[in-house]
Amino acid sequence: MRCPFCNFDDTKVIDSRLVAEGGQVRRRRECLSCSERFTTYESAELLMPKIIKTDGSREPFNEEKMRSGLLKALEKRPVSVEHIEAEISGIKRALQATGEREIASRNLGELVMEALQALDHVAYVRFASVYRSFQDLDEFRAEIDRLSSEPGSAKLDQV
Ligand SMILES: [Zn+2]
Repeated sequence: MRCPFCNFDDTKVIDSRLVAEGGQVRRRRECLSCSERFTTYESAELLMPKIIKTDGSREPFNEEKMRSGLLKALEKRPVSVEHIEAEISGIKRALQATGEREIASRNLGELVMEALQALDHVAYVRFASVYRSFQDLDEFRAEIDRLSSEPGSAKLDQV
């Protein structure tokens, strides 16, 4: 975002909040050159940050991929679709409100774990320690697949 005062091409976001029922984000920015502050309003559709994978490549945020990871973790748990969808909306709002163009996949993973914790403690405990030892959501999902296809996976229900 270019500074409207001195035209310097880099500004820092100093505050970021949702307005108009989440459809827009209002940002206070400060110019890194002249230190003038100004406000921008941006549409939420444009604001979903890209995900920085552990190999350094970038990919668009993929809501379906995140949803399928959550549903896998919550398989056979007594959690309603409404609650899951509310958490997914919450994660998207949190991503938009960061004001960042790109975020590490690890940060997204932490948001997903927080959502899981809010939804179902058993599912959270079951997967949190597993997830933390992984680099990103792709690895995490592979591990979930592995766990749920193991013959002895029924013992996970006792966690
Ligand atoms: Zn400036």
